[in-house]
Amino acid sequence: MASLLNSSIVDPWSETVSCKSIGAALGLGFPLSVKDMLSRRDKTRVTKYGVYVCTYTGGTVVKNLGDAWLERAFSDPLGIASYFRKMSGGRRIVEWQVFPYQGDIMTRGEKKVLEDKAGAKNDAWLEIQPTYQIALDKGIPVNTVDNVIFVIDLEEARAGVSSNGYTFLATNDIRPNNICHEMGHNFGLRHASQAEFNDYGDSYCLMGGLGPAGNNATEFDNMRLNVATGKNSHGGTGPGICAPYLNKLGWIDSLNVNHISFSKDGTASGDMTGTINANQGGLPIGSTQRIALVIDLPAPSPSSGYIKSQYWVEYRIPKGFDRQFNVVPQGALLLHEVMDSQESHSYYLYLTNINILRTDYSQKLRFPKLDYVVRITDFSSVPDKISYVFEKG
Ligand SMILES: [Zn+2]
Repeated sequence: MASLLNSSIVDPWSETVSCKSIGAALGLGFPLSVKDMLSRRDKTRVTKYGVYVCTYTGGTVVKNLGDAWLERAFSDPLGIASYFRKMSGGRRIVEWQVFPYQGDIMTRGEKKVLEDKAGAKNDAWLEIQPTYQIALDKGIPVNTVDNVIFVIDLEEARAGVSSNGYTFLATNDIRPNNICHEMGHNFGLRHASQAEFNDYGDSYCLMGGLGPAGNNATEFDNMRLNVATGKNSHGGTGPGICAPYLNKLGWIDSLNVNHISFSKDGTASGDMTGTINANQGGLPIGSTQRIALVIDLPAPSPSSGYIKSQYWVEYRIPKGFDRQFNVVPQGALLLHEVMDSQESHSYYLYLTNINILRTDYSQKLRFPKLDYVVRITDFSSVPDKISYVFEKG
């Protein structure tokens, strides 16, 4: 759905719109037409999603969450459209359409055949593609949108999967953050990991963080979307997206990071002192606010076995989509390592409580492969930012 609030013509952090001020900014005279204003939005920033609830003849439905819930999951002030508008700093706008229910998509037996085929080859597309084609044949306009989310309303269905921009999500498990997670894959992200053997190990990123219950360890419940049906309460939202992945998506750019590199003799240079604002999402084009410190590790010697990588330091606080970030109210510095040779895959290393760093100046953020440290020199909560020095230590 396109709306003034969910468009490029309104500041991504706005919660309300004033037609009068938009009209003035666009140089329009009275009477103002919303349709006219909307036609001036930047459509190149729009990704359009379709959503369709699939039921199967002979299958037991969970209890249809309903088109109204799906509509609200996208349109809510803390919903999916708002999430991407804010995470991208207005660089990416998600519009959506919930397709009206058109009866069972196929029989449970036919689905089983497709499931088995996809399972045997470990290729979800073998089930998703035929489902897409049947939907199209039934007159559901799945070809008018960029991506489709098929909501699988079947008692035994669990979790979700994406392939070629199309997603299956089980009614049992669906909630805003797993919809956003699958959309994150569609935008080109892999998982936010802790190590190669801990695929989802970054609890502080949308693309990682699976806790013991299968939910994100730092998600919060959006009470407006809680519904007593299926396996969970369906309100799970957040957290935000780690800075290296915002960079990979192009939702921040080189103006938004401080940068340090090493010469051949091991001397560091660049933004040895600087300020980092809390990462609450991407930044509008042209913003010069910094939300990370990026350190290019010294070039590895061919015999060392190291691959070329970067450290990313970011400051995260329990606000906005990170409100469940449960360290201290003042937040923490997080350290990630990004491996160039692995399509910029982000690995979370650890965090350091900001209260320790800012009150005990002998405490520093250390790096596994460097004899340099980050020391906090100043701290402010309005706005949330820290100043640092990068020094030997
Ligand atoms: Zn995933």
